[in-house]
Amino acid sequence: AHRDGRWTLAAAHAATHIATSPYNDRRMSRLLFLRASSLCRSASLPASHLSVRTTSAARTAAYFPAASRQPPPAADMRTPRSAALSLLACTRLAASLSTSSGASASSTSYRGMPPLSRVSDHLPLAKSAMSYFDSSPDPFHAVRTSADMLEAAGFSELSEVEPYEGKIVPGGKYYFTKNKSTLVAFAVGGKYERGNGFKIIGGHTDSPNLRIKPRSKRKAAGCIQLGVECYGGGLWNTWFDRDLGISGRVLVRRQDGNGVEQKLVKLDRAVVRIPNLAIHLQTAKEREAFAINKEDHLSPILATEVKKALTGGEGGEGGGNSGEEKKSEKNSSAPVKDGWTEYQEPILLRMVASELGIDIEDIADFELNLYDVQPASLGGAYSEFVHSARLDNLASCYLALRGLVDHTASDDGLDLLADDEDISMIALFDHEEVGSSSLTGAGSPIMSEAVRRISSALGAGDAGGSDDLYASALARSFVLSVDQAHAIHPNYASKHEKNHAPRMNDGMVIKRNANQRYATNGITGFVVREIARRAGLSPVQEFVVRNDCGCGSTIGPIISAATGMRAIDLGCPQLSMHSIRETMGVCDCECLMFSWSGCAAVLESSAMGTTALSFMES
Ligand SMILES: [Zn+2]
Repeated sequence: AHRDGRWTLAAAHAATHIATSPYNDRRMSRLLFLRASSLCRSASLPASHLSVRTTSAARTAAYFPAASRQPPPAADMRTPRSAALSLLACTRLAASLSTSSGASASSTSYRGMPPLSRVSDHLPLAKSAMSYFDSSPDPFHAVRTSADMLEAAGFSELSEVEPYEGKIVPGGKYYFTKNKSTLVAFAVGGKYERGNGFKIIGGHTDSPNLRIKPRSKRKAAGCIQLGVECYGGGLWNTWFDRDLGISGRVLVRRQDGNGVEQKLVKLDRAVVRIPNLAIHLQTAKEREAFAINKEDHLSPILATEVKKALTGGEGGEGGGNSGEEKKSEKNSSAPVKDGWTEYQEPILLRMVASELGIDIEDIADFELNLYDVQPASLGGAYSEFVHSARLDNLASCYLALRGLVDHTASDDGLDLLADDEDISMIALFDHEEVGSSSLTGAGSPIMSEAVRRISSALGAGDAGGSDDLYASALARSFVLSVDQAHAIHPNYASKHEKNHAPRMNDGMVIKRNANQRYATNGITGFVVREIARRAGLSPVQEFVVRNDCGCGSTIGPIISAATGMRAIDLGCPQLSMHSIRETMGVCDCECLMFSWSGCAAVLESSAMGTTALSFMES
């Protein structure tokens, strides 16, 4: 490890962070350890290199004289079980770095900086988030990618049509999906008792995009096009002149003739394009207005009719399958005709069938959308930005997943879940961008049903009072509704109220609105600020919209209103929201991910428990 410069630095940062933390609460120490271990993991360091040891605060301070830089507030000193956690390997290493004459330049710089302040420290998390964004061009893919992550972390799938009773136990990890576009995952704490609460992060899997219409055929001026429908409030101007692929789900007839099954498809190349109109063909007025007609101007071009004639209608390079038509002609059993296929563009059907290795006749229906095929990238002079499609809200989905997976992992020799008294849950909903009122949206019964079913399955066999228990579980629960926030735009700075203008790479943003477009109130806002303070994260930023501007909303108030659970709306600051390509800061990812572990820790600690919250409210 000494020879690996990256790890040396990561370890030094981690050790400094732990040693200088003024908070010796055991759970917060564990949170800090989690941060350290994820750092070391990202530097490909085996977990066995980390040793966890509780020791006295004084001894930790001896390892790190710099610990006295931030004197702990008096309130935290009274914790009787005061214990600090040290990474022995790291502290020794860091100590040697700070005294050795041969230490690298970084050893002097880290001592004077708050931990994890360097952009490079954040890149591993940002890069793994970027690959999640690229794998999730639509809600169906987002759910599949998320389920894969959960399966790899030992979560098992529950079926919504079967009772949970007898299937879930304390210490277990589970997930279920609805319509395969909404996903709920949860882990039951090892010390869970009936009536205990839920710690929940909510997010959404959908983003504004262009969806292929139920009848996709469209033709004009010698071009074969696709009919598309606007989903959500996109900045549609940004969809022009981009390389667009096609993704989504296809319902494929089962070979035994009974029903259909879902297959995901991703035509991951520039299959279609929506060209801009040349500037020479626009009047001065049209140029200035930059206005588009969503019906007339957004249909993408798939092929030219000349090309179709030349190739006999094959799907084009990489997507064609000339054997398909012949194959179906040879098929003696008559193809199913339900009037759907003849309204679809045959080139599209061919490409999809070829990608999935099926016959065109097997396609019963599809839900397809366009997406930008350009992968996410790091930008800015110091690689301090992530540029990607769908940051709103896949960034939150990914960080919620990572938070849950880290909280429930025991491979670091640290079993947080065994000690947990509550249920830790993430709920990633579809249809937020169109108001959440749907089968799979946050306005559906999914959330309250999940809480009720899990509570009752875990309390099964015990005597009576299940409604009462359910109500008490709700009262003990806390929802972090996580969705991207608006960072201040330097060229449009007047669009923000100047005291509430979050900046990128400057930490999480709490969103508030007196008219309840956001769920945050004084108590829930305080809890999250306190988490950030105790975990040594950047101070939380605050956002309210200007009085002369409309306000967006998200799932926080919807979940709160439907279930009666306390909630807060927060998220990472970003620019270009609802553009086909958005921008956020790499350093904000970490703050958000650890806010959840922090929430778990803070809610369980005696000083800040949910009981204390109820007390404050009364
Ligand atoms: Zn959003």
